[in-house]
Amino acid sequence: MNRRNFLFTVVSLAALAACGAKDSAQASEPITESTRTVTETVVALPDSEWEQLLTANEYNILRRAGTERAGTGDLVSNHEDGVYSCAGCGLPLFDSETKFESGTGWPSFYQPIADGRVEDRVDSAYGMRRTENVCGRCGGHLGHVFNDGPRPTGQRFCINAASLDFLPRAQASALPSPPPVALGGYPVPTASE
Ligand SMILES: [Zn+2]
Repeated sequence: MNRRNFLFTVVSLAALAACGAKDSAQASEPITESTRTVTETVVALPDSEWEQLLTANEYNILRRAGTERAGTGDLVSNHEDGVYSCAGCGLPLFDSETKFESGTGWPSFYQPIADGRVEDRVDSAYGMRRTENVCGRCGGHLGHVFNDGPRPTGQRFCINAASLDFLPRAQASALPSPPPVALGGYPVPTASE
């Protein structure tokens, strides 16, 4: 358990990011937030906090820019109607209508659900120059985007399933917009005070 206590900021590198345990785990300390010009609120948590919120697999992918083995993600073959949100902060990222079968073994989409939801960053790791995608709110590493996707955008967002939570349409539609910060991933209790 290493403890890098760095705070996550929007501009900070990216390679790390976030996402949440599927349970109802809650951050024990207040979340540090700062507003951003885009649309959403940025979530910044100490790395040690993320480590507690996430499963080991999610932490490795979201905070350490890891990649799950092709074909192992639970959402690769999901064809249900709904929304894919960030597993760390709950921000809706992709709509099922833009999901397609890429044959890569990772969930693939041809465009994000809205502007500002998925951010691009240059990734020069492994001697390659790729475009990394991170969550626009918590900076969680999602995957990479390539220019060999289908119409209408020609883009292929190749996303780790562990970075995503799936919300059936009815449940997604019931969320306020922008959705609340739900560290640890959806589903979150709505109005269950
Ligand atoms: Zn997020």
